[in-house]
Amino acid sequence: MEIYKKGIIFVISAPSGTGKTTLCERLLKILPDLKMSISHTTRQPRPYEKNGVDYFFVDKKNFEKMIVNDEFIEWAEVYGNFYGTSKKVIFDLIKNGYDILLDIDTQGAKNIRKLYPDSVLIFILPPSLKELEKRLLLRNEDKDIIDKRLSKASQEISQYKFYDYVVINDSIERALNDLLCIIYAERLKTKRIEHNKIDEIFKK
Ligand code: 5GP
Repeated sequence: MEIYKKGIIFVISAPSGTGKTTLCERLLKILPDLKMSISHTTRQPRPYEKNGVDYFFVDKKNFEKMIVNDEFIEWAEVYGNFYGTSKKVIFDLIKNGYDILLDIDTQGAKNIRKLYPDSVLIFILPPSLKELEKRLLLRNEDKDIIDKRLSKASQEISQYKFYDYVVINDSIERALNDLLCIIYAERLKTKRIEHNKIDEIFKK
């Protein structure tokens, strides 16, 4: 029986190369009532990425216009590119009764927590920095991009203490199971109950 409010915001942050994208994709397949918020970015698309699916790819001028028009819930500069969560994307998902998954960096996570104290912050850690480097090398990106991401990773990892949950991705299946446990438990919290539904069930 559905007695819990939807519209929970789950924020997932992780250094790049941790396996966050794969984990998010797997979660979305298992949980049809969880939807990803698609961010806007000024970053160039990677060869396999599609506009409107992975990101809304926009140029800097349009991104700045969106900032001026107050269209973002939060935005941040990451690795020299801009990334932002659009208000419209989030409000539409909430209106349609979905829980929301945000894949954003640590600056964005802190801003979301301030705006939505009931949001759930999850940090995914790689098993080690050595393993992270190995995974980044497999992506065939430029050496200086990999170096930038590795040095940012150490910085980001220190932020895990601000999060509600920490998941170590040493095995995709185990990390996925941890994420599912977190989502299921959060959905069952008393504070998310629709009390009128309980009253309806137990009315004398
Ligand atoms: P990538 O370029 O690898 O897709 O993402 C780089 C970083 O930007 C990741 O840490 C990702 O979580 C973060 N990111 C993606 N979208 C947003 C967003 O809308 N806001 C913020 N603050 N960070 C984002």
